[in-house]
Amino acid sequence: MLRIDGVTVRFGGHTALDTVGLDVADRETVCVLGPSGSGKSTLLRVVAGLQQPDTGRVLLSGIDQNGIPAHKRQLGLMFQDHQLFPQHNVQDNVAFGLRMRRTGRRESERRVGELLDLVGLPGVRNRAVSSLSGGEQQRVALARALAPQPRLLMLDEPLGQLDRSLRERLLVELRQLFRRLGTTVLAVTHDQGEAFALADRLVVMREGRVEQTGTPLEVWQHPASEFVARFLGFEN
Ligand code: ADP
Ligand code: MG
Repeated sequence: MLRIDGVTVRFGGHTALDTVGLDVADRETVCVLGPSGSGKSTLLRVVAGLQQPDTGRVLLSGIDQNGIPAHKRQLGLMFQDHQLFPQHNVQDNVAFGLRMRRTGRRESERRVGELLDLVGLPGVRNRAVSSLSGGEQQRVALARALAPQPRLLMLDEPLGQLDRSLRERLLVELRQLFRRLGTTVLAVTHDQGEAFALADRLVVMREGRVEQTGTPLEVWQHPASEFVARFLGFEN
């Protein structure tokens, strides 16, 4: 579904991504895990078409995305500060994600209703987003990202703002939802718990490079380096 091949991004003298390669298969959830500043958000921005790489390629379903603008890549994006319109109601926020011109009001309401059921938020359609809790807002952001039926859903520190117990509950629900829908997901996080809970496969990054790739179990049992072991919380 997605292939990232030899991608390098430099900001002035600083190399944010250094010949990064990674693949995401259809229906797979890949989590990129790494400390702050390791290049995770930059990687998503390159895939999204919001950041031009200095070298390397991004392929979606085998097609080189070079020159294809962000809005034509059919991707769903959910960022940490989920960028909802707080003063607008839930309906308008999720409908914004439909991005379908000439979608009639009735059809739009039907789709939004479906999406809100999907993320476990029935009956909030007419509420202002600002009146919802953090966890509810996160679900609205997810519904908005899923609305255009993206071929790839990208999450940047999706649950970073939420408290621990809510985060753990939402992680389980998200994983079940992605399984059920067959969603292909590329998520990035600095939170080990989040990555291990969500991922079919983990990619550990360090200073713009891929340090290790493997299933959560493989990475947990056989960290490829001292850095990975320490980052996962092993002390020796
Ligand atoms: P992460 O998401 O893993 O915390 P980022 O991808 O945001 O890391 O950033 C990686 C590195 O690139 C950091 O050192 C950051 O300061 C730098 N960086 C990111 N975006 C820009 C930018 N637009 N201009 C200059 N430096 C940037
Ligand atoms: Mg980031």
